Amino acid sequence: MEKNSIVQALALLGAPRKLTGEEWSGILHTLDVDGRELLAEKAREAASLSFGNRVYLRALIEISSFCRNGCRYCGLRCGNRLAVRYRLSKEHILECCRQAASAGFNTFVLQGGEDPMQSDEWLADVVFSIKERYPEKAVTLSVGERSHEGYALLRRAGADRYLLRHESADDAHYSFLHPGSMSLENRKRCLALLKSMGYQVGAGMMIGSPGQAKEHLVRDLEFLDSLQPQMIGIGPFIPAKGTPFGNEPHGSVEDTLLLISLLRLRFPRALIPATTALATLCGNGMERGILAGANVVMPNMTPCDVRDKYTIYDNKKSHGSESGQQLALISEKLERIGYRIDLSRGDYGQ
Ligand code: SAH
Repeated sequence: MEKNSIVQALALLGAPRKLTGEEWSGILHTLDVDGRELLAEKAREAASLSFGNRVYLRALIEISSFCRNGCRYCGLRCGNRLAVRYRLSKEHILECCRQAASAGFNTFVLQGGEDPMQSDEWLADVVFSIKERYPEKAVTLSVGERSHEGYALLRRAGADRYLLRHESADDAHYSFLHPGSMSLENRKRCLALLKSMGYQVGAGMMIGSPGQAKEHLVRDLEFLDSLQPQMIGIGPFIPAKGTPFGNEPHGSVEDTLLLISLLRLRFPRALIPATTALATLCGNGMERGILAGANVVMPNMTPCDVRDKYTIYDNKKSHGSESGQQLALISEKLERIGYRIDLSRGDYGQ
């Protein structure tokens, strides 16, 4: 197909219908050549129409580094003998929430490996206790693939949102990234279930993961177009020691920023974080993510004594040691580029 001009690409991104694979491919090719600056500018405008100059903050609590899965990119994969394991107790998690709440956070994100010891019942009890103490705050879960009953139980316990990146919407590429026990089909099934249960759902993919080609990104964009997630998490792939991809090159910061802008234009109201992976690869990654159209930052509120052990990839960055310090730093950095932090729940469509 003929290359779209940048103007045509921008028009297509705003089209109120699903785009075809050809159209996505055309957009990616066009933007690969030129127009990244213009795209970022338009994406900033779109974000500012939806959110003004506000950036939502979420307290990220990494609840376990144990995982039963063997995702080839992830430092927490079960086969990684270099990984150091920990799991937080219910009391520990509640204490993290207490600290995050007193710093002013209104969303707690509980993320972890698929730890068999943190069963659906156990986690539902934790979520219930959090919501009992903080009924007005949002709880987001990011604890992988679970059963229909598990997701339903967690939703009944009060979980509001669920992050489960689809990782790759191309069957062969998905299988290249994951062990044989996992499938794109099941991932999609989980996302559909979560959506049907009324969770605000987050999907997304790494940029520059091993084996990722432009055709795969086209599949990802088509998939996101049909899923219509409320949240979209994308960040560069970063190699993790002790994994099969430990010596692969990291993903490109520029490409990640381009995809953030593109997704912002396609999903003007979506909650799109400037991810830690982006900030890990470049000193001002958070600011660059926001200037590309992201509108969420997730500071790490995992207790300092275990934070270093949640190594999904190498040299993972965090803003500071304790919550107040982190907030002040982030706020200062954002103010310098004309944004301000917003500690409200920041639900989709608000
Ligand atoms: N167990 C949960 C949480 C995983 S960590 C789940 O499977 O959903 C959250 C995200 O980190 C993953 O979805 C993945 O996209 C990203 N991630 C994992 N390893 C990474 C790596 N090496 N580089 C960059 N991002 C990575």
